Amino acid sequence: MKDLILVLNCGSSSIKFSIIDPINEIVYLHGEASSLNLHNSLIKWFIKNKVYSLDNKNFISYNYAINYICKKIFLKYNYKMFSKVIGIGHRVVNGGDLFKKSILINKDVIKNIEKCVCLAPIHNPLNLLGIRKFMDLFPKLKNNNVAVFDTSFHNNLPKRSYLYAIPTKFYNKHNIRKYGAHGINCLYILKKVSTILKKKVRKINIIICHLGNGSSVSVIKNGICIDTSMGFTPLSGLIMGTRSGDIDPSIIFYMHENLKISIKKIKYILNNESGILGLNNKTSDFRYSENRYNFSVVDKTTVEMFCYRLAKYISSYFFLIKKNIDAVIFTGGIGENSKLVRKITINHLNSLNFYIDKDKNNKIYKDFNFINKNNTIPILVISANEEIVIAKDTFKIIS
Ligand code: ADP
Repeated sequence: MKDLILVLNCGSSSIKFSIIDPINEIVYLHGEASSLNLHNSLIKWFIKNKVYSLDNKNFISYNYAINYICKKIFLKYNYKMFSKVIGIGHRVVNGGDLFKKSILINKDVIKNIEKCVCLAPIHNPLNLLGIRKFMDLFPKLKNNNVAVFDTSFHNNLPKRSYLYAIPTKFYNKHNIRKYGAHGINCLYILKKVSTILKKKVRKINIIICHLGNGSSVSVIKNGICIDTSMGFTPLSGLIMGTRSGDIDPSIIFYMHENLKISIKKIKYILNNESGILGLNNKTSDFRYSENRYNFSVVDKTTVEMFCYRLAKYISSYFFLIKKNIDAVIFTGGIGENSKLVRKITINHLNSLNFYIDKDKNNKIYKDFNFINKNNTIPILVISANEEIVIAKDTFKIIS
């Protein structure tokens, strides 16, 4: 076993963790604590083809999950493998203007990530929690922690797409602009498409639909991201698990001035009580509404709204790359697993020559799968893999 990298990806509802050989891209252990703080939480991990799980609980808090992963999965059950780990890579959602690329973590870096909390209020605090906890619990690796940012991929957005039409001083003095998110997986997908299509990265033109608890769409022209649906924070764009996505900003003024709801509460409503949860009034877990699509009006509307908004983004991004388009990609928990979402979304786009092949769409796949009808625009399902990008960046920085 060579030098290994431990990767920690603290998402909004899940913690993904893995131990990876970054040179040979071998994943020795990978796992996920999912649906945290919900009724159906689970911690599961895989070593080779064997699956292990903590299944005697049905509600697991975020804190409990982090402690269990560190103390039990790494230090107790897999210490031999863990002793080969030379560095820890952390996903950080928003690095704002302070971080353009991955960086070795020290006290100043932590302070600057804290400054970016306002740019990802749900995520950066959880990313920081993971960083602090792992630095404390693994003191020997304290100086070998690396932050890898979701925003770095969107560094080259053109001004016309990252500026907001508000007085320019808010950008010039206060850095209010579009930063985007999900960039780590976008980079993985871009390289993966390049391998699948045997085409150079700088010639790739794709639309990436990253659909998970957080969702975004990005359009890549000649290997560079030219627009993305997430904005100053990951609140804008598509409908998400608990986030509203795009709304008319006047709704905020109305809630505050007419309904007398405090700004703090409105922020909480839009980030934590909206999206799928706000629409179905039950759960942010997309599977709930998907499973009830055929017999519940509320859940049908929820799914239809999700797909309609997504189709609108895809069609507007399509016109930025038009006939040079190589593929539309579905990735992330919903993108990879929901044939219903893919079907409804693509059916909105038939007039643009996007057509789903029913059999291919229903097929269980490994790694990647084409799901379009022959002679129509390629549509690919590709498993998200932020971990391999983080492992490679971490190894490069600490070596
Ligand atoms: P995160 O943003 O936390 O990384 P994921 O990419 O893991 O999220 O996606 C989580 C979402 O994927 C949840 O809403 C979950 O309901 C959804 N999901 C997982 N499996 C399926 C499935 N088989 N069908 C539809 N949605 C699914």
